[in-house]
Amino acid sequence: MGLLIDLVNAVAGGRVQIVDLTAPLSAQTPIIGLPEPFGQTARFSLTEISRYDERGPAWYWNNISTGEHTGTHLDAPIHWVTGRDAADVSQVPITRLIAPVAVLDFASEAAANPDFLLEIEHIKAWEATNGALPDGGWLLYRTGWDARSNDDSAFINEGHTPGISAECAAWLAVEAPIQGVGVETVGTDAGAAHSFEPPFPCHSFLLGHGKYGLTQLRNLDQLPPNSAVVVVAPLPIVTGSGSPTRILALVER
Ligand code: MN
Repeated sequence: MGLLIDLVNAVAGGRVQIVDLTAPLSAQTPIIGLPEPFGQTARFSLTEISRYDERGPAWYWNNISTGEHTGTHLDAPIHWVTGRDAADVSQVPITRLIAPVAVLDFASEAAANPDFLLEIEHIKAWEATNGALPDGGWLLYRTGWDARSNDDSAFINEGHTPGISAECAAWLAVEAPIQGVGVETVGTDAGAAHSFEPPFPCHSFLLGHGKYGLTQLRNLDQLPPNSAVVVVAPLPIVTGSGSPTRILALVER
């Protein structure tokens, strides 16, 4: 029997579980807010075109409006000035969109300290137990922040949200074999990262090295540390800097 039929049968039989890492998209989906004088991203919204009425008696449909970086989304390299000549979201190679993941759990540390930062030594300790970070895969950084995602103010937490140190971000961009980082928070950088050197080091280093970011993930607690695979499906927005993205994890049970 073929490999893909085996996979379908494994899903049907429960030997492979599909875990949805995507936050629902609605007008309540949290978004980042920037200080003056910077431009602001938009919330997700629906505008009804018709709903079985005089505007369309047999059909219901909406227009959508959204920022590219609203909800669970992918940051393409072109999102940051350091990656300005690199890929837009429509140019991300499709072979990148199915990849293995390492899941590093720092939920208890982030609960104790909302400004907790991931350091190189944390990753080295994880590797000593779980093996090397996956070549061409994702580092998914669990902080427990998905539990706050239905409450805008708890999610943004007045700018106190966990992240990755500048030194660690540089290491992930240059030294680590991963293609990108995924987080549960509103962006890949810590809430305090405007004051880091350089500012917003995850964006600056990772996107500047042609790597990617994934944000507002949920259900990372349902993933094993080193054996899941994710399917990431951003919209191919031509010239776009990112896209809301469905992200499904395949987990062997
Ligand atoms: Mn983004």
